[in-house]
Amino acid sequence: MNKAYVALGSNIAPRHFHLTQAIDYMKRSEHVLINNYSSIYQTVPIGYQDQGEFLNMVVEVSTTLSSTELLDLCQTIEADLGRKREIKWGPRTIDLDILLYNQDNMVTEQLILPHPRMHKRAFVLVPLAELNPELRIPGTNESVKEHLAQISNEEKRGVVKWTKQDGEEE
Ligand code: ATP
Ligand code: CA
Ligand code: CA
Repeated sequence: MNKAYVALGSNIAPRHFHLTQAIDYMKRSEHVLINNYSSIYQTVPIGYQDQGEFLNMVVEVSTTLSSTELLDLCQTIEADLGRKREIKWGPRTIDLDILLYNQDNMVTEQLILPHPRMHKRAFVLVPLAELNPELRIPGTNESVKEHLAQISNEEKRGVVKWTKQDGEEE
């Protein structure tokens, strides 16, 4: 069995529904078992600011899929949930990034592991640290917790735990 961490993000309503749909889709694959879920966080967009806030979370999975097959599954789920690529880092129904796959450190045209920008992003490190703070990020000599400690407080303030309120329009 391989262990991977997948980051989920949505900033097009209904955001929580999109996260749930993506997780349900993964659960339907006989090759993927979700071991653990982080909390959901509401986060301020980075890169391209003129868009709504995101909901982000991370899941830990066990899988018999190779990393490339797992990326294929992620991209199938994105397409199925209506993901369109229009603006770089722009609004999306769902984004699924493979953060880590075992301790693999690799670069191909389709897939870079670990995800090359993960260790700079509070919206990734905060939920990941909930699941496995001691996890070492390959290619760096530091753990998730140590990378998180290097992120500015301002950026961390943009990542706030989110809970679904009854009847809330999402
Ligand atoms: P970012 O990668 O900065 O989070 P993004 O998620 O908006 O930006 P996408 O448009 O979703 O970027 O993805 C662009 C390409 O990144 C995908 O087509 C995929 O082939 C590639 N890619 C490389 N490494 C990974 C990875 N670890 N997880 C997911 N996609 C990856
Ligand atoms: Ca992404
Ligand atoms: Ca992506």
